[in-house]
Amino acid sequence: MLKKRRVRFAPSPTGPLHIGGVRTALYNYLYAKQQGGDFILRIEDTDSTRFVPGAEEYIQETFDWLELSFDESPEKGGAYGPYRQSERKEIYKKYVDYLLEKGAAYIAFDTPEELDAKRSEIPNFQYDASTREGMRNSLTLPESETQSLIDNGTQYVVRIKVSPGVDILVNDMIRGEVVINSSVLDDKVIYKSADELPTYHLANVVDDRLMEITHVIRGEEWLPSAPLHVWLYKSLGWEENMPQFAHLPLLLKPDGKGKLSKRDGDRLGFPVFPLEWTDPVSGEISSGYRETGYLPDAVINFLAFLGWNPGTEQEIFSLDELVQAFSFDRCSKSGAKFDVEKAKWYNHQYILKMEDDKLAELFEPILVEKGIKVPREKVAGVVSLVKDRIHFVNELWDQSDYFFIAPESYDEKTVRKRWKEDTPEHMRQLIGLIQQMNDFSAGNQEEIVMEWIQKNGLHTGNIMNAFRLAVVGEGKGPHMFNITEIIGKEETVERLERAISLLGENKETFNH
Ligand code: GLU
Repeated sequence: MLKKRRVRFAPSPTGPLHIGGVRTALYNYLYAKQQGGDFILRIEDTDSTRFVPGAEEYIQETFDWLELSFDESPEKGGAYGPYRQSERKEIYKKYVDYLLEKGAAYIAFDTPEELDAKRSEIPNFQYDASTREGMRNSLTLPESETQSLIDNGTQYVVRIKVSPGVDILVNDMIRGEVVINSSVLDDKVIYKSADELPTYHLANVVDDRLMEITHVIRGEEWLPSAPLHVWLYKSLGWEENMPQFAHLPLLLKPDGKGKLSKRDGDRLGFPVFPLEWTDPVSGEISSGYRETGYLPDAVINFLAFLGWNPGTEQEIFSLDELVQAFSFDRCSKSGAKFDVEKAKWYNHQYILKMEDDKLAELFEPILVEKGIKVPREKVAGVVSLVKDRIHFVNELWDQSDYFFIAPESYDEKTVRKRWKEDTPEHMRQLIGLIQQMNDFSAGNQEEIVMEWIQKNGLHTGNIMNAFRLAVVGEGKGPHMFNITEIIGKEETVERLERAISLLGENKETFNH
């Protein structure tokens, strides 16, 4: 039987989660759900110097918003907890001791000054098999001296001992078999006596094993660490249980040159963070997808396509469909260019897909802010008419204000073009016609008005454009009779009368 798939998203809470991190989490989620596996959140917070208050809460809030739920997490708990590395400190020491006993790691006493001196002495100095003999460590010092240094409280680090000339195989589901020779690796620090903490690499590997992680899916920036992680797995005797790796393609700037950064977002006017973030120190605010008006489903769909494609023309995928369709075979190795127009397009598509009632619900707080309180039904009717014109919910007001408030002025150009000398008389006749209507449905209005236009040999364009100007205030908007059906007979008549009195016979007297 296949082992149950277990994947983890392992962010460090060092600031707001980058949108690329959200993509990483999403791919983990898709793979886990497709395989009937577990999706775990592990907070990698051992580096207290980089800890930022609020960052962990921000991560949890992001996935709550996207409705991507973890099977195990600090908040939810689980059988493999704790899920915060800072709460797992005691766990790691045992593995450090094991590696030392085995001779797979050693203790080093070199001070920062001594290391700096070596760096200036030897070009491209790296602490490894070729240099460790010349350094102050448990391999070069007599055992008794090592022991007495430790007993005296001298600070030390533990370094992994990488033997040179060994081919290390990283089996990557996206990149295939990547072979790296151990000679290029350095003897990385895996533990520091100063804070009695393992470094990121050891904690990461130990936790992946203890949490029985089967697949490590993460950003490309971690690819250079993978050989070391494989080496650690082997040194710890866990070769049989090594996870499979998948290093996801980088998210590139919209113009394709280099990694997408916060500055690109500021420069080009799109968020690089899922939620708005206020820097706890500077107070600087960075925009978020949520606050910009993106819908969670649109963000998920858009992110899924940054580095993966289904191999078909289909672009709109529900989360369930993504779960079914996702595969590492169709993930690209090369970077994925960030495309803000595409993000907007996705949002537009999801707005069109949304039930009118749901969209109306999202629009209501904006209406309330404008002091407008109308039945949900009316709001739903309005959004159904204008939703094809917007990318974001917060654009609804500009596209539909005239449904809720009568125009107070009239677009100058449209007036000049559409309000002719005989217009007031025609509008008066139109008012009479409307007042006689019992059925004010769009269909009935249209039938009656068109018949009147024809019978009297009037110009449809002139009449309808003046009618629109009176009701909307300018030449925009959806089908005229759909607008009047929603605003109602009384309001339609009032607006026509108002336009007649404000614009009058003389088209130069308009108000603007
Ligand atoms: N803590 C690392 C990060 O912040 C985790 C990398 C990994 O997934 O192994 O990205």
